[in-house]
Amino acid sequence: MNVQDYIRLEERYGAHNYHPLDVVLTRGEGVWVWDVQGRRYLDCLSAYSAVNQGHCHPKILQTMIEQAQRLTLTSRAFRNDQLALFYEDICKLTRSHKVLPMNSGAEAVETAIKTVRKWGYEVKGVPRDRAEIIVCENNFHGRTITIVGFSTDPRSREGFGPFAPGFKIIPFGDADALEAAITPNTVAFLVEPIQGEAGVIIPPEGYLRRVREICDRHGIMLILDEIQTGLGRTGKLLAEEHEGIEADLTLVGKALSGGFYPISAVLSNQEVMDVLQPGEHGSTFGGNPLACAIARTALKVLIEEGMIENAAEMGAYFLTGLSRIENPHIKEVRGKGLMMAVEFYPEAGGARHYTERLAEHGILCKETHEHTIRFAPPLIITKEQVDWALERIEEVLSA
Ligand SMILES: *Cc1c(COP(=O)(O)O)cnc(C)c1O
Repeated sequence: MNVQDYIRLEERYGAHNYHPLDVVLTRGEGVWVWDVQGRRYLDCLSAYSAVNQGHCHPKILQTMIEQAQRLTLTSRAFRNDQLALFYEDICKLTRSHKVLPMNSGAEAVETAIKTVRKWGYEVKGVPRDRAEIIVCENNFHGRTITIVGFSTDPRSREGFGPFAPGFKIIPFGDADALEAAITPNTVAFLVEPIQGEAGVIIPPEGYLRRVREICDRHGIMLILDEIQTGLGRTGKLLAEEHEGIEADLTLVGKALSGGFYPISAVLSNQEVMDVLQPGEHGSTFGGNPLACAIARTALKVLIEEGMIENAAEMGAYFLTGLSRIENPHIKEVRGKGLMMAVEFYPEAGGARHYTERLAEHGILCKETHEHTIRFAPPLIITKEQVDWALERIEEVLSA
């Protein structure tokens, strides 16, 4: 089969809910991926930050093979010998008290919503079915009905209603707006430390510190969605560390398996998780032994191989390089760690033609919201590889 054959088959039988670049990948190793014609690309998307550890990391692969040969799924009707070890590892690493494992990011978000609502009724004393959760404009928290119901992106929500009530939307990066939106029925504020899908939107310095203080003062839970920003992406294990705060609930996913398997988790700093009783929430695959073993190794290599420090160092270097690109159509270059973006003025005619040309030059990345290109390579990228990438990016973007 050639490239066109794969594309034709996919278009013929698949739902058209994505608009991918027309590269058909077949192999990956570290920062590199290869297409079916044997062309090599530097992956600057990292599966939306799920492969922070690089493609097919050998140690995670080894763990996956060994665990798959021993035990993969028990359901939570029984205990397994990997779950407790995963719990201990991730709680110690993130200074959390409790953890609840799920599979996808959206499920972690749903889990947090359920948990804070129940906490609101049982602990805070909010009248039944009146709990309010505050979220931000241009958020991205996943694709379930509840979640798209509080999205402000028309493409995410149009045609999918009716939606769940109980969400209030405020501008991102505006702590005063948060304070003004709180009522006696508010149970939580759900926010991304940096808005990834919105185009790497970085809030003003001090925002999260003020948010933390406001949540404390009003007795509401702070839920940080670190599904994209977490696990080293921004140059810290969790992005909250940049402001020296701790959320009450932290959501991680994506890189929690290094791209091998869908694994997510809700991490809880307070005892809010204790409101959940047996039978009230769960998932057939959540916390399965294969997932737990993979996640433990994915976390271990992130730390032991210095990927987080590398993300900080290479991110700063990469960003400096991007900032030097001269093109009057570029509106802004921004980033934190290896989570970076180049935004174009609308007159540039969208970023898609750039991402297509970048692919021709061996750089894979994706436009987000039409005018912005996100650059987020695996955290193992070396200086030589950044130079290699910048040379090509500059060639395409300054043309
Ligand atoms: C990707 C993402 C999600 C959803 O994760 P899925 O695994 O795709 O359900 C939620 N929040 C943020 C910030 C994300 O980047």
